[in-house]
Amino acid sequence: MTTKSAAAAARATVYGYPRQGQGRELKKAIESYWKGRVTAEALHADAIRLRRTHWQQLTEAGVHEVPTGDFSLYDHVLDTTVMVGAIPERHRDAVAADPLAGYFAMARGTQDIAPLEMTKWFDTNYHYLVPELGPDTVFTADSTRQVTELREALTLGLRARPVLVGPVTYLLLAKPAPGVSAGFDPLTLLDRLLPVYAEVLADLRAAGAEWVQLDEPALTQDRTPAVLNAVARAYRDLGALTDRPKVLVASYFDRLGDALPVLAKAPVEGLAVDFTGPAAANLDALAAVGGLPGKRLVAGVVDGRNIWVNNLEKSLATLGTLLGLADRVDVAASCSLLHVPLDADAEKEIDPQILRWLAFARQKTTEIVTLARGLSVGTDAIRGELAANRAAVASRSNSPLTRDPAVRARVEAVTEADGRRAQPYAERAAAQRAHLALPPLPTTTIGSFPQTTELRTARADLRAGRIDSAGYEKRIEAEIRDVISSQEEIGIDVLVHGEPERNDMVQYFAEQLDGYLATEHGWVQSYGTRYVRPPILAGDISRPAPMTVRWTSYAQSLTDLPVKGMLTGPVTMLAWSFVRDDQPLADTARQVALALRDEVADLEAAGTSVIQVDEPALRETLPLRAADHAAYLAWATEAFRLTTSGVRPDTQIHTHMCYAEFGDIVQAIDDLDADVISLEAARSHMQVARELAAHGYAREAGPGVWDIHSPRVPSTEEARALLRKGLEAIPADRLWVNPDCGLKTRGWPETRASLENLVAAARAVRNGLAAS
Ligand code: GLN
Ligand code: ZN
Repeated sequence: MTTKSAAAAARATVYGYPRQGQGRELKKAIESYWKGRVTAEALHADAIRLRRTHWQQLTEAGVHEVPTGDFSLYDHVLDTTVMVGAIPERHRDAVAADPLAGYFAMARGTQDIAPLEMTKWFDTNYHYLVPELGPDTVFTADSTRQVTELREALTLGLRARPVLVGPVTYLLLAKPAPGVSAGFDPLTLLDRLLPVYAEVLADLRAAGAEWVQLDEPALTQDRTPAVLNAVARAYRDLGALTDRPKVLVASYFDRLGDALPVLAKAPVEGLAVDFTGPAAANLDALAAVGGLPGKRLVAGVVDGRNIWVNNLEKSLATLGTLLGLADRVDVAASCSLLHVPLDADAEKEIDPQILRWLAFARQKTTEIVTLARGLSVGTDAIRGELAANRAAVASRSNSPLTRDPAVRARVEAVTEADGRRAQPYAERAAAQRAHLALPPLPTTTIGSFPQTTELRTARADLRAGRIDSAGYEKRIEAEIRDVISSQEEIGIDVLVHGEPERNDMVQYFAEQLDGYLATEHGWVQSYGTRYVRPPILAGDISRPAPMTVRWTSYAQSLTDLPVKGMLTGPVTMLAWSFVRDDQPLADTARQVALALRDEVADLEAAGTSVIQVDEPALRETLPLRAADHAAYLAWATEAFRLTTSGVRPDTQIHTHMCYAEFGDIVQAIDDLDADVISLEAARSHMQVARELAAHGYAREAGPGVWDIHSPRVPSTEEARALLRKGLEAIPADRLWVNPDCGLKTRGWPETRASLENLVAAARAVRNGLAAS
């Protein structure tokens, strides 16, 4: 039908771009401003320069329409809060006095005023600041930032499209403000919010916007009919406005499901739809609703969340199918490129054979442009690119790095029994009790002790060659000696070595596993000015040598008390890395699990009787759609059990998770079959202990009695009260005493004081138990 005009018109575009700059200039500029070393004007000037550089990169690569408003000095949801005037009461004076300082106060808090809460942006590792709304919230439009950035791009002669968080997603991401009843539903504010969006749209039109993009990723989660009605109403009202640019509603991260027909019917001019990963289901769904006649479809065919080269031929096939379904089809990444590093070409240490498999933001941009060209003028025009792409894709699937026969054979040979402890819990518990001879309510910590300046200096010295690895290891050993003797003095029952050798709980293992790849410059924003460099699960995973045994054994050699071995679990390894896209996640998890299983075996053989396998990411990787939960939890818990089931019955397996809300995964926690689990619980007054008990959880648990996210020292009485609460849910022979999480961000003085109180509390409660 419209194949011809679509083919002539395909534009290449993106929804957002990495903000930091190649040298993380943005981080440096913002942190200098925080320290008072540069003025607000200087920071703004740096930001303008960076935006211009990003647009230039996009334009030079051949992008036809650049995004504006995607840039942020901290977070785009916080920017939306400013745009709609939903500044929390407690920050209003600061914002009025100095908008920039007030903006950062909302993000980071001040001495006396709490920041907004931060939480994960869907299932990515980006964190946004949660809007706080209530029945009294008054919205007012402030389009300054959006208009300014649009003008900057238009002045450069670019075709630009402002990108905004959509009104429904904004409300769905919000929570009731402090003091507002928890039952308050922010979505009830929709009618108040829409006029503000109308005003912003009008301002953007006046500033020259032809299109505006409204991002509604929240529609890729399961939504009730009431929410879908709100979506229909929102876009009916916005669509009916006369003074507005054309509206493109964007969704990403998963399939649209029931929201698709709603959006397809909405009186807006375009939809941007994700066709990668589980969102590939959008293709059939779109056909089923009869396509988008008369609308613009922006097709997200390049994975915006991973770092692998696109299979261009496959994408062209998808795009070809889509041509028949919309008035015009443009090409994009599935989501903002914010979630990938900037430039793979900056990686000089990566073998060029492997580098050709990688596509960061700049390379993805080129792929998008190539696909748009192929779609517009035919594949002949991109013959060279297609040939090179075909070769890269083939070399990856044939490479010995991605396919290690020994690893594959081993995974193949895994049996159901390998993922099951030989004895049921009750028998193991008896064996462990005899073997470990711990007091009731045993005390322990989660693994890390304060990462002091000396430790960081030692690591920097090693990197810079100021000390050699022998010198570095001496410093680590000295730290372990300190940590062990401190714990003995304090009176902890199950000790840890303190993890001083670990820069990061995932990176440390990734660096030692074959098949993993590290980057030098692959920074991705986690939140604000914090960036991480996720390692890449590039090929089949194996463990050439023990990774932790040396340090755990050294620690154990210093004491007669049991020292707990400490590993990062397979699910968390995957969650905080870039994963393979050429095999199911379950397969990758199984490979990592087998490598860790060997480490567990070596720890046990070296005399470690207690081994903790951390899985803080188990819950955060839960798929967005409930229909996908069971399959995920099945492979995730299996990978954990595969890691931990090879041990003797008297070896005690611990696990640890860091969040207070896990209602939807209690069964999975049970399915891990760990002997002991430690969890965050202090702030919620042992809520998790009650939830575990209600579920019938029959093994041991250590709900945290010290909230380590604050420098505050809990008193003995406070810890005692929490323990007594814990005992109401979990009997004394199954209750552990520990902090909420690792102590690496804490200082030594509060660590020592808090642990002393924690031990005193445990002893007092034990004495009480013995007396009664
Ligand atoms: N063992 C790790 C630590 O103590 C666990 C960290 C975490 O749960 N995120 O640092
Ligand atoms: Zn934790």
